[in-house]
Amino acid sequence: MTHDRHSYAEPLLVRTTHLELDLALDFTAKVLSGAATHTLHWAGAGDRLVLDTRDLTVLAVEGEAADGWEPLEYSLAVPDKELGSALTIRTNRNERVRVSYRTAPTATGLQWLEPSMTAGGVMPFMFSQSQAIHARSWVPVQDTPGVRFSYSAHVTAPPELMVLMSADNGTTSRRTGSYDVVMPEPIPSYLLAIAAGDLVFEPLGERSGVWAEPAMARRAATEFADTEEMMRVTEELFGPYRWGRYDLLVLPPSFPYGGMENPRMTFATPTVVIGDKSLVSVIAHELAHSWSGNLVTQDSWDDIWLNEGFTAYVENRIVEAVYGAEFAVMETAIKQHATVVKLDPLSKAELAVELPGLNHRSEYHGTTALGPLKGTWFLAWLEERFSRAIFDPFLRGYFDRFAFRSINSDDFVGHLREHLLEPHPGIVKDDEVSAWLDEPGIPAFAERAVSARFQVVDEARSRWLGTGELPEGAAGWTTQEWLRFLDAAPDMLSPVQLQQLDRAFALTGTANGEIARRWYQIVAASSYEPAYAELAAFLTEVGRMKLVLPVYRALAGSDRAFASEVFAKARPGYHPITTAAVQKILGQ
Ligand SMILES: [Zn+2]
Repeated sequence: MTHDRHSYAEPLLVRTTHLELDLALDFTAKVLSGAATHTLHWAGAGDRLVLDTRDLTVLAVEGEAADGWEPLEYSLAVPDKELGSALTIRTNRNERVRVSYRTAPTATGLQWLEPSMTAGGVMPFMFSQSQAIHARSWVPVQDTPGVRFSYSAHVTAPPELMVLMSADNGTTSRRTGSYDVVMPEPIPSYLLAIAAGDLVFEPLGERSGVWAEPAMARRAATEFADTEEMMRVTEELFGPYRWGRYDLLVLPPSFPYGGMENPRMTFATPTVVIGDKSLVSVIAHELAHSWSGNLVTQDSWDDIWLNEGFTAYVENRIVEAVYGAEFAVMETAIKQHATVVKLDPLSKAELAVELPGLNHRSEYHGTTALGPLKGTWFLAWLEERFSRAIFDPFLRGYFDRFAFRSINSDDFVGHLREHLLEPHPGIVKDDEVSAWLDEPGIPAFAERAVSARFQVVDEARSRWLGTGELPEGAAGWTTQEWLRFLDAAPDMLSPVQLQQLDRAFALTGTANGEIARRWYQIVAASSYEPAYAELAAFLTEVGRMKLVLPVYRALAGSDRAFASEVFAKARPGYHPITTAAVQKILGQ
């Protein structure tokens, strides 16, 4: 097992096998309070239990003894800015230890939304985001992906609100103010999740459905109608879905991510609900996590590529099976382009830091890290070289072998050698494999995805830049073709060019967040003021980091005062994770 430097826990000594939560949601105080009872497996010697916490107020710690609960001595360490405070408990090697506590209103893993920040505008909303190390801000826990536990929870809330967790929530949206859920499969702490709000249920299929605010539920169900089909094709490729139900919860626009793969209950951004299913690869991605990440988990954040790299690969296979090869190739080409653009300006020395060999654990930089992209590319390369007839059963065998376990890169590489490279010699060379696992960057022999439709788009862009002739047929382009057009356009365009595009295709004010992000990035870098009002509205409405951070980055370079002005207005609606990221960009 890898030592996880993002956690104070000592899982070789003792580990949680089951967690029982008893929590009350207080929307007035923006506080969650109650108790977390850990069932423990003592493996090593000693009587010390160390849990991760951040900004928690610990009220009592007790251990279960033969004649009831006994108080235990504990101490909370001086907080570390990144990791929080270690809660060290002197136990009697109790089988169960209970921590009574309450969260801070500023808990980094929770967001409390005023009614005005929801679609309905009447009831408040709250949701958690535990990945990577935020679970510790709302549950005292061994906050490392190397420890897995099942959990059950009893939660009370104002009776008009529905509470959901990353667990078996059932499908009745009857509100009682008192909810009991169970997660029978062992999960790592970053998959602990809770949400509460004015939520209703729309079924999608036998095993799947959507939870959302009433105004959004029907639209979301239409957008995500292919979920059941996605589950079917993934099972056909990579083995059974092992989590019972698969439901989606559509959050308010301030959710900082596209989706969060909370087991049994993916949290999703509403920015992909645009009416044409063109951005539902986010759902394919979150579903894919039910195999990579949730089922087979990296045992520390330094091996994030085992999670996100495999997931993006499986995502693309799902997209291909459901929406066709052309769509899947366009999606791959967009991601590869984004990777290459980031890598091209790097020197050899920088490359060794930013994108080392996959088997050289690197610092976890968050979900924008390049490692996962390289991992996805590596898997696609293996698939291409070995053929699907060999590669698909290999990958399925990997998910089967390591199901419900936390592993590191060495475990994967060992499995790769044993089950793919050695049984099928001569297909790839040792130094080719080593170029992926040990060398920095993307190997020169890695082929790039080629989309015929993107070639047409590239030619149209060149012609327009050269002659001013608007791209023919662009009014009928798919989302992906527009993304390609904008991705490979110059960072800055002239006011005349921007006005011409905008008049023809009404890009300013688009409801498509992926197009908006790219368009406003160019608008910002070009200081194109006629689009500033809509750009500001976009940054205020949406809090998804992938969409807003690039626009702030462009503004920081061109118009920092305007960026700060917009941020000041948008900030009350942002998740703390988004706020911190924007502050960093703006140097605040
Ligand atoms: Zn992911």
